[in-house]
Amino acid sequence: MKKVIVFLAGDGIGPEVTRAAVTVLREAAHEFHHQFEFAEFPIGGAAIDAAGTPLPNATLDACRKADAVFLGAVGGPKWDSLPVGKRPESGLLALRQGLGLYVNVRPVKLFEPLRGISPLKADRLGDLDLEIVRELAGGMYFGERGNVVENGVERAFDTESYSTSEIERIATFAFARAESRSRRICSVDKANVLASSQLWRRTVTAMSAAYPGIRLEHMYVDNAAMQLTLRPSQFDVLLTTNMFGDILSDAAAALAGSIGVIPSASFGSSAPLFEPIHGSAPSLAGTDTANPIGSILSVTMMLRDAFGLSLEADWVEQSLLRVLSGGFRTPDLAEPGARTVTGSAFTEMLREEMQRTLEHAERYGWGV
Ligand code: NAD
Repeated sequence: MKKVIVFLAGDGIGPEVTRAAVTVLREAAHEFHHQFEFAEFPIGGAAIDAAGTPLPNATLDACRKADAVFLGAVGGPKWDSLPVGKRPESGLLALRQGLGLYVNVRPVKLFEPLRGISPLKADRLGDLDLEIVRELAGGMYFGERGNVVENGVERAFDTESYSTSEIERIATFAFARAESRSRRICSVDKANVLASSQLWRRTVTAMSAAYPGIRLEHMYVDNAAMQLTLRPSQFDVLLTTNMFGDILSDAAAALAGSIGVIPSASFGSSAPLFEPIHGSAPSLAGTDTANPIGSILSVTMMLRDAFGLSLEADWVEQSLLRVLSGGFRTPDLAEPGARTVTGSAFTEMLREEMQRTLEHAERYGWGV
């Protein structure tokens, strides 16, 4: 298979975790005879320093032409004093807009060896394996906003607004996702208060008639937040708006033990974007302590969801599980008795384990 992949390493720990992603993709290309062509472009603070803007035209053009884009992370104190629209983070928002991305998927799955580091007790945690499907291009983050002064009192406002077609396109994605999992969707809204949520609920309910095999449930966002911390294993696919998804996905990520282990994928009208959910973690930059797992799992999403290479994705994930089962951990996951290693050593261990998986495929039950 021939694919062009654009890497946007970004700032802080972005370049470190991007190196892990490159290593895994190189191995997959080598072992399975794929031709993956890699290209690197600047984004965020690195792009401000190099080209005076957080998303240079050359970067966006290359991403639009790619088969998939990988992003490390952007931002850092060096650029914090810049005005909002000129900061590194605005490069990421412009990239999402420029690629027409309207779906964001964040799988939150507990690796069995990491059960002990979850803040939830084992009996509450159950088999945590859910996906948050978040609308990415509409809602409050893109609605009308402003500040007005009335009778000497300042008022600021943001507007939550959704059209039927915006709801339908994200719900279509979520229903398809549920078809390939356990055929359950929980649609999260605030229909007891918000008009936009009432349209959201009506639209999703009407669409469900076309998916008789899928069980649809609705939940108010406040209850969903509570249920995520009480009994997260009740959820499979959670479908929700831009803002509710932003908040719920970070809460769900915490259940897996570290923000460093959660991947994400965004889809839209051109190249899909894959990125770990964490930021640039400036205090960790250059210390080789960043956890590369979120990046590695973003790559397995790329292999499986963008390229249809499930065998290769399973190969990486099974190998990763065995490295964790061996007790190896980056510092953010360290428990008593764990063997703490640097981020780059962890990636190298994974690479070696991927070789062993190929050598002992039958014994490990991979690809047979
Ligand atoms: P952050 O995700 O960078 O860090 C939050 C906490 O998690 C910190 O304690 C950090 O040390 C830890 N952490 C993050 N990634 C880790 C990893 N891979 N391994 C181990 N520990 C990890 O969020 P923040 O501190 O709020 O933001 C820092 C900068 O990143 C800011 O400039 C922010 O705007 C930016 N940011 C960027 C993105 C992105 O690029 N997608 C997302 C969030 C924040």
